[in-house]
Amino acid sequence: MKRYDPRAHGARCDLCPRKMQTPVPPEGPKRAMLCWLGQDPGKNEVKQLRPFVGATGTRLAGLWEAGCEANKVALPRSQIWVTNSALCLPLTKSASEAKRAVDCCAPRLRKELLNLHPSAGILAMGKWAFYAMTNKLKGIGKFSGFFKELKKLPPVPEVKEKKSKPRKKEKKT
Ligand code: SF4
Repeated sequence: MKRYDPRAHGARCDLCPRKMQTPVPPEGPKRAMLCWLGQDPGKNEVKQLRPFVGATGTRLAGLWEAGCEANKVALPRSQIWVTNSALCLPLTKSASEAKRAVDCCAPRLRKELLNLHPSAGILAMGKWAFYAMTNKLKGIGKFSGFFKELKKLPPVPEVKEKKSKPRKKEKKT
């Protein structure tokens, strides 16, 4: 099977601190009416190369199916677009690494979302998913999940090259 390359889908991996080490491809049908958007994959997702198959993802899928059954709604996971705001496993717990990875992955995510049904909704889970859907960092620490309409997405953030620090002049002896 051909390996998924996020760069072919618009990701700026060349500028990203995660350097395409563990990209977990999104999955789901085109023109889906709903998207589950997480933050970034965990170790289980990386192992299986599938999003939302770790403990949290499995719990969410169980709750979703129970909710669908209770409300007599037929929307199984196979009909949902499942993805993350950054496709690679975090290397550190640093917020600046997370923000830059989400910004570098944003063009790729936008392309995916534009393939959803025009009336689709996005269920964003986790603070970096919130950031990816709003470009806002304010209040991000308190965030857990929210629903966003595809029609109301903010612009994709621009990512600039990092400037290398100038070398200190050597002291003359
Ligand atoms: S997180 Fe996204 S932009 Fe960064 S290396 Fe992985 S796929 Fe590329």
